[in-house]
Amino acid sequence: MSKQLYNEAKLDEYVELIVRQGVNIQKGQQLFIGCSVDLAFFARKAMEAAFKAGASNVHLNWTDEISSRTRFLNADNSVFDVFPPWSKVMYDTLAEEGAAFLNIVASDPEIFKGVDPDKLSRFNIASSKSLKDYYQKLMSSQIRWCIASIPSASWANKVFPDAANTDDAISKLWEHIFTAARVGDGKAVKKWQTHIESLKKRVDVLNSYKFKSIHLKNSAGTDLQMELPKTHLWLGGGDKAKDGHLFLPNIPTEELFTAPQADSVNGTVVGTMPNVYNGNLIDGFSITFKDGKVVSYDAKTGKEHLKNMINDIPGMDYLGEIALVEHDSPISNMGTLFYNTLYDENASCHLALGSAYPDSIENGGSMSEEQRKAAGINISDNHHDFMFGSSDMSITGTTPSGEKVTIFENGNFAI
Ligand code: ZN
Ligand code: ZN
Repeated sequence: MSKQLYNEAKLDEYVELIVRQGVNIQKGQQLFIGCSVDLAFFARKAMEAAFKAGASNVHLNWTDEISSRTRFLNADNSVFDVFPPWSKVMYDTLAEEGAAFLNIVASDPEIFKGVDPDKLSRFNIASSKSLKDYYQKLMSSQIRWCIASIPSASWANKVFPDAANTDDAISKLWEHIFTAARVGDGKAVKKWQTHIESLKKRVDVLNSYKFKSIHLKNSAGTDLQMELPKTHLWLGGGDKAKDGHLFLPNIPTEELFTAPQADSVNGTVVGTMPNVYNGNLIDGFSITFKDGKVVSYDAKTGKEHLKNMINDIPGMDYLGEIALVEHDSPISNMGTLFYNTLYDENASCHLALGSAYPDSIENGGSMSEEQRKAAGINISDNHHDFMFGSSDMSITGTTPSGEKVTIFENGNFAI
């Protein structure tokens, strides 16, 4: 038996948080859990907690990124243009039956380094086309879903390269994860209620201004002007599913976000953290927009992957999300680069290329794609976040009457 690398009581508290507030499993509901075979102990715990909370059944979808890598390196080339139809049926059936979806993310950020980018790209196109319906349900909160992370050896070693050994790196990462999830003294549920309330308060303040446009600027080189749709809504602190039950799509979450007017983004954004895309790192990058569309981009590392991110799937050459996270906030203050979007995006202001969340505009959740497009937000079958926050980020909003309001000063909220 190997050494236990986490505190058992904290783990139980974390599992409860994910099952009860994350996916917020209801009596008689099914739960889908996507989890790496290496981390089976966690999926089993989540399964037990879900049954205790009243789940009718729990389905485990075991993944293994080392086998995925082996497949990318060895399978017949034709394989990468097809997403397995049986897997599509699994997602669509469970979504139609009202299941909740829990995804445990613990990826090695460079798992597909050295794999032919064309294969990654083609498989990404095939899977996003095939899972379109499932993805739509997820983006519009028709189903409850949650993404959370636990350490894997390869991920922990990447985050803590100076740790004495792999076990030490894993222990450290567990503690960071528990802290970010406000887990530790048995009061996580209460702490999350307070946290959500404080995010919602700020959402109300932002919404009260009905900003016409915002201007983002810092010394890293970001200088970006964007209009916001007339009916835009700032969101944060979890979501309400169409069945009326609250859930937390991400644990942790520190962001307040909305969608830009897709065709009214102008200027340049400079990334301030490495970005993980298709199991590869993109770093030292910048993207320039004109009338919403990406017109140029560059990267010191992984430029080919950035190119594929922007070009492979229609709509990925426009922005779908602008999210604000203070420089002085819990995950950012850890001063740790996580190489995991779920963590890094909650430590930094970020943008996403691709689809906007329908709820970023009034009544967006009940609109067709065409209606949402007409209301000004971007449509795509993909959505990918990248970070651009900094300690000197300044954000100025312009109200419909032309008044200038300082939203962010030196990386933190000024309103
Ligand atoms: Zn976000
Ligand atoms: Zn996002």
